[in-house]
Amino acid sequence: MRAFIPNYQLTTPASLADALALLKSEPDVWKPFAGGTDLMVLLEAGKLPHRNYINIWDLDELRGIDATDTHITLGALTTYTEIQSDPILRSEFPMLCQAASETGGLAIQNRGTLGGNIVNASPAADSPPALLAYDAEIELLSTGGSRWVPYQGFHTGYKQMHIGPDELLARIRLPRNTKGWRHYYRKVGTRKAQAISKVCFAAVSRMDHEQIVDTRIAVGSVAPIIVRCVQTENALRGRKLDTETIKLACDTLSHEISPIDDIRSTANYRLQVAKNLLTDFLLSHGLNG
Ligand SMILES: Cc1cc2nc3c(=O)[nH]c(=O)nc-3n(C[C@H](O)[C@H](O)[C@H](O)COP(=O)(O)OP(=O)(O)OC[C@H]3O[C@@H](n4cnc5c(N)ncnc54)[C@H](O)[C@@H]3O)c2cc1C
Repeated sequence: MRAFIPNYQLTTPASLADALALLKSEPDVWKPFAGGTDLMVLLEAGKLPHRNYINIWDLDELRGIDATDTHITLGALTTYTEIQSDPILRSEFPMLCQAASETGGLAIQNRGTLGGNIVNASPAADSPPALLAYDAEIELLSTGGSRWVPYQGFHTGYKQMHIGPDELLARIRLPRNTKGWRHYYRKVGTRKAQAISKVCFAAVSRMDHEQIVDTRIAVGSVAPIIVRCVQTENALRGRKLDTETIKLACDTLSHEISPIDDIRSTANYRLQVAKNLLTDFLLSHGLNG
């Protein structure tokens, strides 16, 4: 059943300061409304329990993609279309661009935001695995000031995260340290477009003298939150890439993720696909020995 619109309130603040002041003055009463691509689905289905929203779409301070020598920083309102057209993101962070290009259709890519994807906190979201593999940090803003935190650890459980009721996600920052690394991103869904992931896999790695010097791996749709697979990374680091290493990595991954059966897939299928993608990622370096 559709929601009864007069029950809802949407206010448009004149400035970022006004938005933060409103969040502070009535904690838990107001929530941000960015592109609305997640919120409108709930509204249409009559399943949007929260009633009062702050329209943040026009806040220019939350827009833009800026680069320094060490980082690239994206405003929380950066859309998937903007991500795909940024030259630095395309050359240095191709997994984020690929995730953006495989998120919904064109209308969603024009309106959906990276910040909304993070705070919506779906375990099947497509950009967070890339953000985790790229060691992203996020900025949370309130009237009390700004705090930057690692994105890894931000989500604590299904739809739960370390964000205060008076805070906005303002920016996402990626360290420019993966030049020359191998980047591997795969979204596995029922079809190519407009599909929710059954498994989403993102990984980067750096090799030296046939050894894995460093790697960062993240997988979506295999646990209540997107998982950065630290144990699997540790099992791989410093090892020669051979069949024994691949088996060890797959065994470690099996213990690190906890997929479930749901309407989109089964736990067994998800586990097997995650191991297949890890194997394919490792084989893409070429085997030794
Ligand atoms: C047809 C369709 C297809 C889709 N396909 C995909 C897909 O393939 N992959 C995928 O990952 N997602 C997909 N989505 C989900 C959605 O488009 C994304 O999650 C999108 O990035 C949400 O961004 P938004 O700005 O629209 O968020 P909104 O709907 O505006 O908000 C989502 C949540 O985030 C909060 N929020 C938003 N911005 C902020 C902020 N700056 N600070 C604090 N809280 C904030 C809101 O309060 C709300 O709780 C799809 C949705 C639809 C309708």
